[in-house]
Amino acid sequence: MTKKILAFALAALMAFALVGCDNAAEGEVLTMGTNAAFPPYEFVGENNEVAGIDAEIAAAVAEKMGMKLEIKDMAFDSLITAVSTGAVDVVLAGMTVTEERKESVNFSDSYATGIQVVIVTEDSAIASLDDLAGKKIGVQTGTTGDIYCSGDYGEDAVARYDNGALAVAALQNGQVDCVVIDNEPAKAFVEANEGLKLLDTEYAVEDYAAAIAKENTDLLDKFNAALAELKEEGKIDEIIAKYIKA
Ligand code: GLN
Repeated sequence: MTKKILAFALAALMAFALVGCDNAAEGEVLTMGTNAAFPPYEFVGENNEVAGIDAEIAAAVAEKMGMKLEIKDMAFDSLITAVSTGAVDVVLAGMTVTEERKESVNFSDSYATGIQVVIVTEDSAIASLDDLAGKKIGVQTGTTGDIYCSGDYGEDAVARYDNGALAVAALQNGQVDCVVIDNEPAKAFVEANEGLKLLDTEYAVEDYAAAIAKENTDLLDKFNAALAELKEEGKIDEIIAKYIKA
């Protein structure tokens, strides 16, 4: 009798545990960190929700993994810490793969290319990268644009802003002579603001990828597998084409 009850209780417990597991897997949340001031990769869209290429790619990857995506908006230079401490599971932020960042996080396979370009005012005397010497350069704190410019032109040459929009505002106010930033946000900022243009020059060509905590290799593998399927299905190209007209 006691044995029977025990067996029944155990069976019930196991069934409950299984159901519990199943539900957890289905409803599991993938949290993505980003800085939603980087159009068309991420920006605050309708209903105050983060939209853009990275948000859509992450949602498609999450769906393939049977997870639900949740996005946390934060400063760009907090993202590496946020993902490596587990505050978020993954970062998609038009983030360039660099050797230095690889010391803190793992990167997924790349899903897009970025190019560092220079925004100037329409009447600017700056025509090439050589003309940047001795000029004030606006950058976003902690980005590759910041790292290259402070390395190539010196710390004093660089004025750091929390995001691209603030750097562009500083250019319009005459506080800086140019802004170094990724090409797609650069195009978006030039389109949205009067009196600005892009220099026809490529400062650096880079790979964008998702950043994941070093110890979270399971997620890295799953993310890469889902990403590969989405590339194969043409879904990644489709998402990019929706935001970037060729
Ligand atoms: N691609 C640049 C970097 O990774 C800028 C990214 C961004 O500002 N969101 O540093």
